[in-house]
Amino acid sequence: MKIAVCVKEVPDAGPARRMDPDTLRADRSGDRSLNPFDLNAIEAGLRLKDAAGDGEVVLVCMGPDRALESMRRGLGMGADRAVLITDEAAAGSDLVATSYVLARALEREGADIVLFGQQASDSDGAVLWSAVADRLRMPVISQIAEFDVADGRVIAKRQTEFGYDRISAPLPAVLAVSDAVNEPRFPSLKGIMSAKKKPQDVLSLADIGVEPDRAGTAGSRTTVSALSPPPSRGDMQKIEDDGSGAEKIMEFLLERKLV
Ligand SMILES: Cc1cc2nc3c(=O)[nH]c(=O)nc-3n(C[C@H](O)[C@H](O)[C@H](O)COP(=O)(O)OP(=O)(O)OC[C@H]3O[C@@H](n4cnc5c(N)ncnc54)[C@H](O)[C@@H]3O)c2cc1C
Repeated sequence: MKIAVCVKEVPDAGPARRMDPDTLRADRSGDRSLNPFDLNAIEAGLRLKDAAGDGEVVLVCMGPDRALESMRRGLGMGADRAVLITDEAAAGSDLVATSYVLARALEREGADIVLFGQQASDSDGAVLWSAVADRLRMPVISQIAEFDVADGRVIAKRQTEFGYDRISAPLPAVLAVSDAVNEPRFPSLKGIMSAKKKPQDVLSLADIGVEPDRAGTAGSRTTVSALSPPPSRGDMQKIEDDGSGAEKIMEFLLERKLV
């Protein structure tokens, strides 16, 4: 069974998210790592391969060339191969352009199952998988809490606001797993050591047959026209901590009889 797992490099979770006022895009200049939600997708792919007894798990990413470093975490967990699509002309891709590039890359792979995480922790769209599935003309099941693959079909338990849906779809299919689906393994020392030696293809847009006007800002249908901080709430009182922060917070709560 061939399994492709789409993964994204994101800014580290620690610092608050920042926007770059010059480019009007997310500031991705600090420390970066693999999107935490994608670890569940990689784990799901590895378990599928183990259950099938053979096959391949390939990681697919569109991002800057340094994203290969983040992808090595997935190789260290046990994925067999990495494919990074990186190209100056892809910078600034919105959902439409990103889904087009990934779909072209996935067509080359011809996987039985394309796995995604539930969302990317930087832009939280939780929508890319449906756009990619539409382009690949494949069924998609999202927010998967449990799933099984047998006899050329997938049967999945999909989390909803009111309970669970049980959905069955034929393969090939696109599956977006939730973070409830499994507990991702940590890469072993042996895995980390072998990650660098595993095949890592770095491809340009031309390599995967993407016309330059279908990616980056040229291929995007959305533009960001302006940035502004969220409006402050009128009833908010900002307390600067000059050493007496805790005392001021207590006073504030006591005045309102909240403690
Ligand atoms: C005008 C504009 C400019 C933008 N410029 C950039 C930019 O320069 N660089 C940038 O990174 N983003 C850029 N974005 C954001 C980009 O459109 C989104 O990252 C992309 O549409 C995916 O959406 P998301 O991050 O919300 O992912 P979600 O839909 O939340 O992601 C779901 C899952 O999709 C997979 N996934 C997400 N992104 C990728 C990827 N790139 N490769 C492989 N798998 C992926 C992961 O498995 C993830 O768990 C821009 C957006 C706009 C509107």
